[in-house]
Amino acid sequence: MAITIAEQLHILVVDDDEDDFFITSEILKEIEQYQCKVVWKATYKSAIEELLSSKFHIVFVDYRLGAKTGDQLIEEAIKKGVDIPIILLTGKGNAVVDKSATEKGAYDYLVKTDISAESLERCIRYALARYQSRHALKKSEQKYRSIFENSKDAMFTLSEQFEVMDINGKGEKVFGTTREKVLSTSILKLFKNSDTLDKVLQMLNEKDELEDVEVELQTHDDVEHLGLLTITREKDEEANSYLQGVFHDITEIKKAEQASFVAEKFESTQRFVKMLAHEVRNPLNNILLSLDSMHGADDETKELYSEIVRRNSLRINELIKQLLESFKTYDMVLKPTPLIKIVQEALIASHDRLMLKGVQLKKDVDSSLLILADEEKLRMAVTNFFMNAIEAMVQDKGILTISSTKKDGSVDLMITDNGCGIDPEHLQRLFEPYFTTKKNGVGLGLSSTMAILRSHNATVDVDSEIGKGTKFVISFLQ
Ligand code: ADP
Ligand code: MG
Repeated sequence: MAITIAEQLHILVVDDDEDDFFITSEILKEIEQYQCKVVWKATYKSAIEELLSSKFHIVFVDYRLGAKTGDQLIEEAIKKGVDIPIILLTGKGNAVVDKSATEKGAYDYLVKTDISAESLERCIRYALARYQSRHALKKSEQKYRSIFENSKDAMFTLSEQFEVMDINGKGEKVFGTTREKVLSTSILKLFKNSDTLDKVLQMLNEKDELEDVEVELQTHDDVEHLGLLTITREKDEEANSYLQGVFHDITEIKKAEQASFVAEKFESTQRFVKMLAHEVRNPLNNILLSLDSMHGADDETKELYSEIVRRNSLRINELIKQLLESFKTYDMVLKPTPLIKIVQEALIASHDRLMLKGVQLKKDVDSSLLILADEEKLRMAVTNFFMNAIEAMVQDKGILTISSTKKDGSVDLMITDNGCGIDPEHLQRLFEPYFTTKKNGVGLGLSSTMAILRSHNATVDVDSEIGKGTKFVISFLQ
């Protein structure tokens, strides 16, 4: 109920003495700023009923109301949801009464004998102003309360001793308990890992805040929750500090991630085993067939079959050797080496293939860049990228671009071709052993390349578009 000047004010006066009421209402009518419409109730009971059934802007209550008192009336009215300014009228110098009335919710008190149009006007003006600002505050409190309550993250406030002062609905769920049970309990004992707890406490001490620290909480219902914790130190109206926290639960996301990671791993192992079995089975079949055919054969034929057995055994041996090579994490000797030297040596190794395919070469490698490298192994790795690029490009139309950049934490080598590009579905599997899309491919080139690059503390990024080409970025972390 916003009041503007000269607006009608509905006023209830509760006084068991009719003469007193008459005097009060006459003075109220003298006030120029408001047009007062005054209703009188003489008893406690009728006043409460009136308050509950009609709307008033302001209420004046006499302290003495038969067997009851004005502050009892104030208390009961507030309890029943009456939310308007109530002012107590008292006798002179009754300090104890005044104090208890304001404690019970009276907006103000006036000494009856001091009442004048002026003092009443001021009292009303102040009460209405206070009422309005109280309401505005309540509204904004409600707004923040609703943000707090409806948040999808657990939100809470804590004392400096880390005792829960308030917690929202999601917080109750995460903490596995009810608001009532969790209030005043410390959250420190929920931390699973004491190192993380130390880190959290240290950050709060040093910076008054921490943001998105990954923590594991073992909550009241004995469930583990993984989440990101943010806490800031705040000050309330009385300048007491407290902590405000948000816990973003990522348990479910992590679980899903983990599950898909395990599934992915399983599938790639399955593919690998199938490929390996397939690769070994061919020569093995040849060996078995040859052994069968050797029975009763003449010496010349036997020799022929022995040769087939030997060749196929060597093939299996070679397969195993290649496979082991591709997984080998070499004991490499890394020395500062110019990147351009590696590129040049790899180009020499690819020279014939480049010529045969009629590839145009564009090379712009900074000759001052040094990396820590095992020259021979890294040359093999870079050569593999060149070979794949050459194989991906069309005869006499290929352009191979090799360039370099120095970044903050790395030296990058870029190898770009305008070949067939890579199907996005294949990108994940590129570095898997035996992954190949070529008729005569083995699919061990990139897996052994990866093993070498790992030992060089290098990472690989692929950017590819079907029909346009592929770019590999090899970052040597410094
Ligand atoms: P292989 O060359 O024996 O097939 P790799 O491990 O060297 O085995 O490469 C695996 C697969 O990755 C290739 O079969 C091909 O499909 C793909 N690939 C690698 N590099 C490129 C490239 N530059 N352009 C297109 N596809 C590529
Ligand atoms: Mg290859």
